[in-house]
Amino acid sequence: MSLSPLLDPWLAHPGQERFAVHDAATGVWLADVPENHVNEALAAIEAAKAAQVDWAALTPRERGAILRRWSELLLKHQDELAYLLTREQGKPLAEARGEIAFAASFFEWFAEEGRRVYGEVIPSPSSARRLLTVRQPVGVAAAITPWNFPVSMLARKAAAALAAGCAIVIKPAEQTPLSALAQQSIAHEAGLPPDLFRIVTASRASASEIGEVFCHSPDIGVLSFTGSTRVGKLLLQQSSASVKRLALELGGNAPFIVFDDANLDEAVTAAIQSKFRNAGQTCVSANRILVHNTIFEAFVQRFVAQVERLKVGNGLESSIHIGPLIDKRAVEKVGRLIEEAIARGGAVLTGGKIHALGGSFFEPTVISGVRADMRIFREEIFGPVAPLTVFQDETEAIALANDSEAGLAAYVFTNTVSRAIRVSEALHYGMVGINEIAISTAEAPFGGVRQSGLGREGARAGIEEYLDIKLLCLGGL
Ligand code: ADP
Repeated sequence: MSLSPLLDPWLAHPGQERFAVHDAATGVWLADVPENHVNEALAAIEAAKAAQVDWAALTPRERGAILRRWSELLLKHQDELAYLLTREQGKPLAEARGEIAFAASFFEWFAEEGRRVYGEVIPSPSSARRLLTVRQPVGVAAAITPWNFPVSMLARKAAAALAAGCAIVIKPAEQTPLSALAQQSIAHEAGLPPDLFRIVTASRASASEIGEVFCHSPDIGVLSFTGSTRVGKLLLQQSSASVKRLALELGGNAPFIVFDDANLDEAVTAAIQSKFRNAGQTCVSANRILVHNTIFEAFVQRFVAQVERLKVGNGLESSIHIGPLIDKRAVEKVGRLIEEAIARGGAVLTGGKIHALGGSFFEPTVISGVRADMRIFREEIFGPVAPLTVFQDETEAIALANDSEAGLAAYVFTNTVSRAIRVSEALHYGMVGINEIAISTAEAPFGGVRQSGLGREGARAGIEEYLDIKLLCLGGL
């Protein structure tokens, strides 16, 4: 039986070089998709370059109409896409449905935002000259997308690029190419002219050669990447020869600070949601939970009790909170971080090992006694493990929170307004959730400082990555 009719046109043909995609929960084979190399990537860029000229000549309203249809179609196919997503990625079906809706919101937002790409008339220093600026699409954009939010991260990039008048060529993560390929069918159904949105699938072994094409090609105006800091740095290096513009959304190491004046129940519930959504595999997951000493015991008691109620299993089953990790490599990394923390004095309060279900399922875990010199404090965990650290006062909380090379999201829970403002301003992070963890929405700028990346996605700012400012200097007046 076909996994999804949306997928059928894009699977590997007989005899074509291919790689396999597996179910994240069961390991069962799902499909074979084309293994692409340098030549296919170059051909996709060439086709995109030719198609982009007519696309840029449309009015923003005309482009917006297609993007709005795309948004509607994502919702129309929500169940089918969520099913694919849960199978290849592992997240519970309810979260997968949420991700499809989130993806749709970017097409809806940028369909409108494209109409607000304004230029300027600048007062000239000379009466014989006039100064005008226009903002034009950079041409063809390239994107490399991750496996943790394969539908919405692709949407956040593609919607902005297409709204700006660019074409886009995308290499999805090797673990999750199916939901990306399905969107090619959605694009066609929405009426997008062919070649403007091209998915170039590749296994891990070929990812680097496709990445090199994107970095070196003179026809790529911008490369937008979401993924690990390690690969982000590599792309930055590779792009120096062509002076490629890069938009990078890299790893986080989010502090989640709970002060003694916070609403404890709300803070506990928020910490659970932030930590365990997508099995902890998000770049804005609470990575270090910092709790005021006077409420530490009360927080721990409630937190552990709630963690022990979380249900682990195949995301296709109902009432599952935590699916599998993406693969064995992820499980091994989480295991190593826990081992090191225990060896250095950390205490496992619940969980701590591979789940009885086996595969890449991991027990939801809480570790207390975590210190700033442990790897689990310094590295992005990307798993269902909550490290707890006690702090004595506001100054120490800020110092601990800022003790990281990453700077994506941070969270502060307090009911004192002055403290909320003071601490938020002192945090070296691109986004601060104050008594709130749902910080990511199409309307708001998403991105980090320090080693968490360059640029912003979503919001007004998100379309800027795909535009150049051009000055028109008119003389002889
Ligand atoms: P993870 O290690 O969590 O899989 P990555 O940063 O490696 O995160 O993956 C994010 C994306 O980067 C995926 O699409 C992956 O295929 C891609 N990728 C991995 N290595 C490279 C590379 N050397 N060049 C270009 N892309 C790469």
